[in-house]
Amino acid sequence: MRTIVSIDIGGTQLRAAAYKQDQRQPFTLKRVKTKASEPDAFGRLVKLIEDIWPRKEKVAAIGVSSPGPVDPHTGTIMFAPNIKEWRDFPIAAKLMQRFGVPTYLDNDANLAGLAEWKFGAGRGHHNVLYLTVSTGVGGGVIINDRLLQGYHGLAAELGHTTVQVDGPLCGCGQRGHLESFSSGTGIERFVADQLKAGHASVLHPGKRNSAHDICEAAKQGDALSIEAYRAAGKYLGIGVANFLHIFDPSIVIFGGGVSQSGPLLFDSFEASLKESIIHPRYLEELTISRAELGDDSGLLGARALAELKLDS
Ligand SMILES: [Zn+2]
Repeated sequence: MRTIVSIDIGGTQLRAAAYKQDQRQPFTLKRVKTKASEPDAFGRLVKLIEDIWPRKEKVAAIGVSSPGPVDPHTGTIMFAPNIKEWRDFPIAAKLMQRFGVPTYLDNDANLAGLAEWKFGAGRGHHNVLYLTVSTGVGGGVIINDRLLQGYHGLAAELGHTTVQVDGPLCGCGQRGHLESFSSGTGIERFVADQLKAGHASVLHPGKRNSAHDICEAAKQGDALSIEAYRAAGKYLGIGVANFLHIFDPSIVIFGGGVSQSGPLLFDSFEASLKESIIHPRYLEELTISRAELGDDSGLLGARALAELKLDS
């Protein structure tokens, strides 16, 4: 029976777990603080892996989930947003050298999508579109049971597709991307701009209103907050219509905190999706679903990647 060691590199936590092939739950799991600002993050990671490394079972491979951008073909973290010392960091080669087993890497959004395909809401589907809508917008695409990685390993940056030319500034520095409208940051920016322009709201222009604050205000009937979510949903619908035209999946899975806003976001999303699609056939038997895996998705995705690579 095959054993996989799975690593999830997060901004606040490093996690490591060991899985047996036929079991959904890990048989060892440990988390430590990332302590991103302190040196030798790799040393902490190695120690963590040693702590969970199975004593009896032979490990077949290591899978690693990291925030992007990464090069999955060479197993290199191009840069880690939080861990500044990891620039062009060949993490797969270093782990392979240390632990003596093949090591596979991809970014957290791709792997969350892969985890949902294998273990979560996308089980049984062969063509899956996964979107995480939180501080940013990220994506993962599974086509015919294969993870879409692309020539450079940079495929499925779905949050950075243009939905309005010359639109608002995105976190990446360009304008009008899906993320600049539909992410938590985009919703916050919309409200801040409107408050500055003098629009009435229960929210105060002087303080930072989080996407969560805005969601609460919207539920109390605040018109500006409702409008902010409506705009986010509208552009999400336009973005997803583009993705359906390109990938034609049988399921769209939404993860991330903003996607839990319910009808506030999804009423305008559905209306704009229907309006933007070029043929109703794309929507026939299309499942739209919430992610099932939550916090485990990085570990399960890294595990699924390692299993896919070993089997290919
Ligand atoms: Zn962008």
